[in-house]
Amino acid sequence: MTIDSLIDSIEAIPDSRIDTDVVRKAYEVAERAHDGQTRTSGEPYIQHPLHVAQTLAQLKLDTSTIAAAILHDTLEDTAVTKDDIREQFGPSVLRLVEGVTKLNKVQFKQSEGREYMLENLRKMFLAMAADIRVVLIKLADRYHNMLTLDALPQAKQRRIAQETLNIYAPLANRLGIGELRSKLEDLSFPILFPKESAWTQKIFEEEISKKRDVLELVQHELRELLEAEGIEVEGIHGRIKGLYSLYRKLLRYNKNINKIYDLAALRIILPDIPSCYTALGLIHKRYKPLVGRIKDYISIPKSNGYQSLHTTVITPKGGIVELQLRTQEMHQKAEYGVIANWYYSEQGKPSEGVAPMGGHMKWVQQLAEWQREIQSSEEFEENLRIDVFKNRIFVFTPQGEVLDLPDGATAIDFAYAIHTSLGHSARSCKINRKERPLEATLQNGDVVDIITNEHNKEAPQRTWLSVVKTSFARRSIKEWLRKVDRKEKISEGHQLLDHHIKRLKDLTFDEIPNARRKTLLKTLNLKTEDDLFLALGQGDLSPRAVMNNIFKKEDIIRPRKRQSGAFGFPFGKEKAAPRAWIDGHNSLITHLAKNCKPSVGHDIKVIINRGEHKSAVIHSATCKKIVQKELHPGEEIVDAEWDNTAETIGDISIELAAIDRVGMLFEITNLIRKTQHNIALMHADGSKTREGTVRVYLRVELHSLEEADELLQKLSRVQGILSVKRIEKIPPLQ
Ligand code: MN
Repeated sequence: MTIDSLIDSIEAIPDSRIDTDVVRKAYEVAERAHDGQTRTSGEPYIQHPLHVAQTLAQLKLDTSTIAAAILHDTLEDTAVTKDDIREQFGPSVLRLVEGVTKLNKVQFKQSEGREYMLENLRKMFLAMAADIRVVLIKLADRYHNMLTLDALPQAKQRRIAQETLNIYAPLANRLGIGELRSKLEDLSFPILFPKESAWTQKIFEEEISKKRDVLELVQHELRELLEAEGIEVEGIHGRIKGLYSLYRKLLRYNKNINKIYDLAALRIILPDIPSCYTALGLIHKRYKPLVGRIKDYISIPKSNGYQSLHTTVITPKGGIVELQLRTQEMHQKAEYGVIANWYYSEQGKPSEGVAPMGGHMKWVQQLAEWQREIQSSEEFEENLRIDVFKNRIFVFTPQGEVLDLPDGATAIDFAYAIHTSLGHSARSCKINRKERPLEATLQNGDVVDIITNEHNKEAPQRTWLSVVKTSFARRSIKEWLRKVDRKEKISEGHQLLDHHIKRLKDLTFDEIPNARRKTLLKTLNLKTEDDLFLALGQGDLSPRAVMNNIFKKEDIIRPRKRQSGAFGFPFGKEKAAPRAWIDGHNSLITHLAKNCKPSVGHDIKVIINRGEHKSAVIHSATCKKIVQKELHPGEEIVDAEWDNTAETIGDISIELAAIDRVGMLFEITNLIRKTQHNIALMHADGSKTREGTVRVYLRVELHSLEEADELLQKLSRVQGILSVKRIEKIPPLQ
């Protein structure tokens, strides 16, 4: 290769912005510096930097990168100084050459031990974080070295190939430069695995010879088909799968080549996204698609940002071909990855309709967006230097796995990024072997070892929420806390409800008949009792609202018939008999059984006699007659409920335990007066207990259950009142 052929090929690149004068000048400096030096193969050394520059020019990189590529070995191997480069090419070219020189010292010899290798991997990522173009020059350098590996002794060949396969090919892949990745892999493959490589090569050749004609035909037919429908085909390229990639796929598919449909694919470049979808429809009309092989990576891009429509069709001659439909921009991004973003922002082409890239490519998109805003080319040149890893840091697991996290990320983010359960059970961490708190902010290149708590117990802290930087960590912590909160809230709600019920009825919620609890849930439109407790615990539902739905007010307040005129202090017995509805009947029963004395607030049943002596009598549900079904002929037990429709006003009996102090009774009566209730009866049990407390009995007139609950609550808040309890009946004065 000569400088002239390099410049010719640069000028052949459409829309190239490379300043060929600078390229030529770089060549002159490098040529002079390397004069007399040869490669191991014997050819003049200058061939190497020229080839590296050529690769980068094909990848559409900028002038500085091409110049730096030509000069990349001068600082290390020749008399050229930093000042020389700075003076003639400016600081940005110098920075690139220096970066590559430093990276050249990075070797990934496994024989030197794991620590050494990790250390170097770290350096590599740090270089990348400083300027990605340094790494791109290094990749192109490696590619040319792989091409000229023959001249080296075998052991050295193997070492370099191993390093290429382990480090550089995955790196190219990560940067989205698929083509370079597959070239690097296919150059390493035969050196490291000669047998496997030969075997794959044989299978490949047999298969591809069958496909060649089919591909040719389909390519022709497709163009006709689409153009007949007015769809402009910007290009159709055949793509042959890389050998190493095919080998790995064969291993996954039991070495069955017939299961591999993408050995050869046709890439059809179309003007815009709508034409991609239209073309897909037309293609499926012509060729039968294979079930399960149609993939829409335009709507849902792959995690590395890849976009295309894929389908695999059966051609008339029976050959199976994979088709990939994409726009020129998607094609560029698939081929050139990171670099395509520069290219496109440089051209200022709008990328309309391109779905946002997800996952790991997000930062690339951020960079592209940001560069789109920059108009002047000078600024653009300078800004290329800004790393694509802006706002990202690279940190390592002790096993050498690399994680990229946002700037300012903590060890907690790190733990969650590895695994949710590791985050949940993290207790502390070691950063570069030193014990540190989990909240510590990580720095680029840190090696982080998460220490979990005993038995890997899940115990994320609420305070973590204010320090984590990644949304994944935040989401995981919140989710966990929500679950725990839920459990706590359910138990709180349960206790709260029990507390309220107990005060009114001396029951727990669980003791309330099943049917009633079911009705309650239905009424409140809740699915489970846990939902009910949760609503109570979270304060979405008041205990009072629940109680209202469990009890009728007559359950609590003993009904009396409204008396005409003002309410007096009727110390006597209630006159009006309570009434009950018979289930499913429209009749009211007022006869109370004498033996069991059913009272309002207790469950009841009615015994109907349809025989000679027609009657209907209300019994307590616990009455012996009901329980043991001691019925006379013609008698039948039916369900019944106390009537709550009658306009009633009732009263409630309360027992208080209070400290016997001066003014206590006054305070109680005063409180009740303030609530505007009438006290129907009040007396204190004079016999003091040993603790110096007295019992106070009250009967208070009320209108509703709400009032009852409110009053009980108010009383319980009075200082000196130790307990407040609703009772069925006030014991007689002694
Ligand atoms: Mn080199």
